[in-house]
Amino acid sequence: MINVTKITLPPLDEYYEYLKGIWERSWVTNQGPLVNELEEKLKVFFDVKHLFFVANGTIALQIAIKSLNKTGEIITTPFSYVATTSSIVWEGSKAVFVDIDPETLNIDPEKIENAITKDTIAILPTHVFGNPCNNSIIENIAKKHNLKVIYDAAHSFGVKYNDLSISKLGDISTYSFHATKIFHTIEGGAIATNDDTLAHTISYMRNFGHNGQEDFFGLGINGKNCEFHAAMGLCMLPNLKKSIEKRKNLTNSYDNALIAINKDLKRIKIDKNVEYNYSYYPIIFKNEEDLLKVKSALNNKNIFPRRYFYPSLNKLNYVNNYSMPVSESISKRILCLPLFDDLTESEQLQIINIILNKI
Ligand SMILES: *Cc1c(COP(=O)(O)O)cnc(C)c1O
Repeated sequence: MINVTKITLPPLDEYYEYLKGIWERSWVTNQGPLVNELEEKLKVFFDVKHLFFVANGTIALQIAIKSLNKTGEIITTPFSYVATTSSIVWEGSKAVFVDIDPETLNIDPEKIENAITKDTIAILPTHVFGNPCNNSIIENIAKKHNLKVIYDAAHSFGVKYNDLSISKLGDISTYSFHATKIFHTIEGGAIATNDDTLAHTISYMRNFGHNGQEDFFGLGINGKNCEFHAAMGLCMLPNLKKSIEKRKNLTNSYDNALIAINKDLKRIKIDKNVEYNYSYYPIIFKNEEDLLKVKSALNNKNIFPRRYFYPSLNKLNYVNNYSMPVSESISKRILCLPLFDDLTESEQLQIINIILNKI
């Protein structure tokens, strides 16, 4: 069976070395030495001033939104994982969708200003599939209207744009380190910011609001992560370069065998100034019928690509059902093909042949 992704695990003895340390210290959670070490390393890697390792990418989004200390309308993309939208609603704000650009699949920056009202508090776009948003337009609009920008950077570990770590963009970036992401801690996530005031709020919100043992800064939640997940992250971090290299080669092979051959298949457009992480391999079909034909042919051979992202998030039953024609059209026609470190050339060839046979 071949799935859309497969977890990369470190050599067991490397993880075991960290476990021995945890057993010696009997310190398993509550900002232990491994959590601190991972946070320090990620701060350097992302080139950001503050970074908080949290339980998952969804709580990262929720705390980021909560740290704005107000509710209202948040402008967001309909083409992302459900957590981007659900976190806005969960935190008591209204998700206001702005349609995507048909080539980059990111929020269309030219359409943002039209969606701003007196109740707008923030813009929350996703760098979808690790493809950075046009941050300069987005952040100019934000500045003009006094809005915060939170990027959902769940797909964007290690991505640079114009030689800058994408963690430096906007006010806050949130990450997911879930097992399916290119860098993982099994479950986990992070909140990165360069803003000292937001960082202070995020730091107490992550830990029940505590200010020492007997005092509280304010409202908080349990968003922290633990030593076992940090240990996995410390094992996985040195592997990232190899992982990106491997996926880059697989991406080139898919491109050469599919996109170069069949003009009805399209790729997302990635700006030339992006240092990409090759985290996913989405292809866009001419129509949904072709996608369904290919998907079922692959499924018949025990190969399971995923319809990322389907449905378009404006179709969720807890948001206003605006029409988002571009996102809805892309959602119906986009499929992520298997892409992971251990995917072999022969497995990839099998996938390619099945696809080319069907369209
Ligand atoms: C994976 C993902 C999340 C959620 O992260 P979890 O760690 O699974 O909670 C949020 N946003 C996007 C875009 C994602 O892909």
